[in-house]
Amino acid sequence: MARVALVTGGTRGIGASICKALKAAGYKVAANYAGNDEAAQKFKAESGVPVFKWDVSSFEACCDGIKKVEAELGPVEVLVNNAGITRDAMFHRMTLEQWQQVINTNLGSLFNMTRPVWEGMRTRKFGRVINISSINGQKGQMGQVNYSASKAGDLGFTKALAQEGARAGITVNAICPGYINTEMVQAVPKDVLEKSVLPLIPVGRLGEPEEIARVVVFLAADDASFITGSTLTANGGQYIA
Ligand code: NDP
Repeated sequence: MARVALVTGGTRGIGASICKALKAAGYKVAANYAGNDEAAQKFKAESGVPVFKWDVSSFEACCDGIKKVEAELGPVEVLVNNAGITRDAMFHRMTLEQWQQVINTNLGSLFNMTRPVWEGMRTRKFGRVINISSINGQKGQMGQVNYSASKAGDLGFTKALAQEGARAGITVNAICPGYINTEMVQAVPKDVLEKSVLPLIPVGRLGEPEEIARVVVFLAADDASFITGSTLTANGGQYIA
């Protein structure tokens, strides 16, 4: 029986590649997204993956959304917490709203999404929780105090929950991508990318979303059962922890 995988922020960028790679590997996949209906419908048409709209920063919305996914596909066995946003500003200009939006979306969502599927994973004695953190959660990034804090929080969540899930056959791991060629990075001005970002990446290029998706497929597999609490970096050598 194909396992069921749910990917948050699965309709664009890295998440869309993760959905396609999991589907190609034989999973029944559902993609969540926030509000960009046009991108979601385009993704659904080209991939055949069903899409579900809700805001991962709301616990109630996650509970309702997961119920709908499970009614359609079956119990969630692989959860990929991928949805994330940036609201960059130097700290002396950062607003409370920018701080809260990023913390609630990038870190709060890990509680909001994982808590409703956790009991089912424990009962079935199988689960995979894969959290997409960031290189900037490992090293800190100027202008991204909110984002760096949220992504570092994702790593603490991963390490603690991995210990709780271990005896129940649930693994919890994090992936820290470096700079990946998606709309999030395309928003960085071209000259900043060329002059300030690319020279810092030893392999000399941005990563591609498929290169993160392959790591997810690896961690999701039944036989990745001895890997838990790990942080896998995929950053072209930019930061070696
Ligand atoms: P994109 O901006 O390309 O896509 C983001 C996706 O997340 C979209 O599907 C979006 O939905 C969804 N999303 C955003 N907010 C919410 C929300 N509140 N509820 C539900 N869905 C939401 O992002 P990337 O693909 O670049 O990034 C994916 C993940 O990888 C993020 O967690 C990011 O922090 C992380 N990452 C990215 C890096 C990069 O270089 N790109 C580097 C390191 C980490 P909608 O289309 O409806 O807006």
